[in-house]
Amino acid sequence: MSLGKLAIHGGAPARGRPLPPNYPGALLIAEEEVAAAAEVLRAQSPFRYYGPAEPRWCQAFEDKMAADVGVPYALGVSSCTAALIVSLKALGIGYGDKVVVPANTFIATAGAVVCAQAVPVFADIDDSLNLDPKALDAVIDDETKAVIAVHILGASAEMNGILAAARRRGIPVIEDVAQSCGGSYKGRMLGSIGNLAAFSFQLNKMLTAGEGGAVATSDPVLFERAVRYHDQGEFRESARYGFTGGDDGNFSGQNYRMSEISGAILLRQWEKLDRAISCMRGHHDAIRDAVSREIPQLRWRTLHDASGHTGSNLGMILPSSALANEWMRVLQAENINTYTLYRGKPVYMEPSLLRQRAAETRNSPYVYPFRKPVRYEEGMCPNAVDLMPRAVFLPIAPLLTERGRAELTEGLVKAGRYFADRGELEYD
Ligand SMILES: *Cc1c(COP(=O)(O)O)cnc(C)c1O
Repeated sequence: MSLGKLAIHGGAPARGRPLPPNYPGALLIAEEEVAAAAEVLRAQSPFRYYGPAEPRWCQAFEDKMAADVGVPYALGVSSCTAALIVSLKALGIGYGDKVVVPANTFIATAGAVVCAQAVPVFADIDDSLNLDPKALDAVIDDETKAVIAVHILGASAEMNGILAAARRRGIPVIEDVAQSCGGSYKGRMLGSIGNLAAFSFQLNKMLTAGEGGAVATSDPVLFERAVRYHDQGEFRESARYGFTGGDDGNFSGQNYRMSEISGAILLRQWEKLDRAISCMRGHHDAIRDAVSREIPQLRWRTLHDASGHTGSNLGMILPSSALANEWMRVLQAENINTYTLYRGKPVYMEPSLLRQRAAETRNSPYVYPFRKPVRYEEGMCPNAVDLMPRAVFLPIAPLLTERGRAELTEGLVKAGRYFADRGELEYD
């Protein structure tokens, strides 16, 4: 590979202009989504349970999603935060309960636990940047009622180990699939592996209706409770599922319903998922393999399933956070924008979590007299503290062209050569 000078040294940048923003689903919105949303509006029928027209879009979306994820039940909701709260409430979790959350995740995963009146306890991550099954035994006690496994940026957590550790303690697992819709783990779709799963369709995610989420499960009891919690305790479509339990299982719920407009857009988005993923996965693997041939010492994020990731982000592990910052600066000059997650800090360093603040001014979830009190401090998940600031991600757009792929490869190789020649690409 013949390479020019780095752009930071006055060379021509590997790309002529910056990458498009990292909104995979939004970039795929086209006439299909427009027509579906318009149909709902023309029918003047945007509510999912009744209206001037027979509701159908949320149902069709849920049926398609359930079939593709490989579960009997999917429920559209208003966000992934709502889906997480619905999942926790389906499990009956609330005041006096602890829930395990990985140290590397978006604040919503932990925030949903607090909003469900429980307290998050944080577990460390492995080289996949996801929950480390080996960290579970140390954080689970008899007040722990669930584990949330998050699949960060398209790649699965090590689910077999996580399920085994949770099952040994008799507690359920919720998958947070917000960042990894369409990914799989050892032949099973993400979202079909734990007891329940939460999906996001917010703008940044794989598929989008601007906002939106879904719960997936194979358990009919959890499904009924999820439906009821998301819709004021009601189960309006019990006949659709052949449920005959009556209203005995009723309790007070929320309104986390999905609208028909979102359902219509998401059905059309979902139909594009397979193609988008095979495209991103192909680019992801091709870039990584080409860069590896030129810069063999560069370390990559560990993948627990080398063929199941979505390809939405290529993860590199640099030797230090200082070099990660340099690496990003050099690539930025090449018009290749890369990033670290969450300012490189474990989620529990967010002040609302670190200081244990909830909306409740008196009986906050944190004041519960746990037998083993929950305390947070910076160093409690050392792998997350170490890895997060030196894990650099390159977003891979579903519409990336062959030329774009070549430019990204060239930029990474240029940067890699530069740092390798200076002896800086060396790991302890
Ligand atoms: C985005 C995200 C959420 C929250 O999704 P919303 O749909 O915005 O509520 C939850 N967990 C993770 C890991 C996320 O990335």
